[in-house]
Amino acid sequence: MTGPASVELASVVKEYPGHRALDGVDLRIEPGEFVALLGPSGCGKTTALRTIAGLESIDGGGIRIDGEDVAAKPTNKRDIGMVFQSYSLFPHLTVAQNVEFGLRMRRVAGPERTARATEALELVGLGAFGGRYAHQLSGGQQQRVALARALVTRPRVLLLDEPLSALDAKVRTSLRDEIRRIQTELGITTLFVTHDQEEALAVADRVAVMRQGRIEQIGTPEQLYRTPATAFVADFVGLSNRLPAHLTDGVVAFQDVRLPLLGDPQPDGPVEALVRPEDLVLGEEGLRGTVIASSFLGSVRRTQVRLDDGAVVSVQHDVEQAPAAGDEVRLRIRATAVSASAAAVSASAVA
Ligand code: ADP
Ligand code: MG
Repeated sequence: MTGPASVELASVVKEYPGHRALDGVDLRIEPGEFVALLGPSGCGKTTALRTIAGLESIDGGGIRIDGEDVAAKPTNKRDIGMVFQSYSLFPHLTVAQNVEFGLRMRRVAGPERTARATEALELVGLGAFGGRYAHQLSGGQQQRVALARALVTRPRVLLLDEPLSALDAKVRTSLRDEIRRIQTELGITTLFVTHDQEEALAVADRVAVMRQGRIEQIGTPEQLYRTPATAFVADFVGLSNRLPAHLTDGVVAFQDVRLPLLGDPQPDGPVEALVRPEDLVLGEEGLRGTVIASSFLGSVRRTQVRLDDGAVVSVQHDVEQAPAAGDEVRLRIRATAVSASAAAVSASAVA
């Protein structure tokens, strides 16, 4: 095996009839890095992944793997392993035969095929399952086999397209951690597509947030969460409250609170400030409101508060504080800066 490769998309454009699915995508994945491509359904994640794999042609820009332009290379020459959302095992082949399939295509000799398939199955924790068929496996086990099948050819790049979204929540979390463990062990350059922000933040070295065919921001999970470049990122990554506010010269004001605007400059005017539930503090001072409900979530409590100006916000706090519905409370904002987006024009303003 040659070492892990970098993957680079430069101004990649993909047009479908009447729809530009990729609108100038720039993305560089370092050798051995795990990047999550995160965005809402339809934003172009699968298309981006398929262009890297060579399953879609591109209409502009370029794709380089390990520095080499792959435009002229068919999928089977790009040295890529792929796992898809839907279970894609051949039903009439055993698990071991499924895993060996790629090696058979590459004309690897029988004994080596068997040895490498066994090794790959052990890597995903299914060493004893080689003789089974897909219908004798759970969804999580089938995706482990799909992962073994993708890795058995020792690709330089691993592409995963929502590999966990058909699984139930508990399996999803354990397999997600397992994928990260295996990726770290192999040091393979990985692009993991998901629409689930928690999943992206949990597994990736860096997360690229995609919107309408473009990468809106790329950064470590901490950078995206703490310093979102746009309101879309702030809203999509983590929970955010929307507070009516006014923006003047880069300062967001709500009632008597004033905080600098995070991210790119925006025109002055009415905005919605995005404030994390954990950045609101229940106390003696600040915005006035009334408790609607409070839920115990184990390690924290989350309380819904209707502010006096009508906005409803979610506050995350210690379980020791247990406000009851109807309590009058004050909320302080702990953030040192906030994201904001232009406020939706109200019906009365339109009329
Ligand atoms: P995602 O994976 O982020 O949900 P996709 O990459 O699958 O999004 O799709 C991006 C956009 O391109 C969507 O609007 C989708 O309808 C459109 N699209 C995808 N594949 C095709 C195709 N083969 N023909 C036409 N439009 C397509
Ligand atoms: Mg998709």
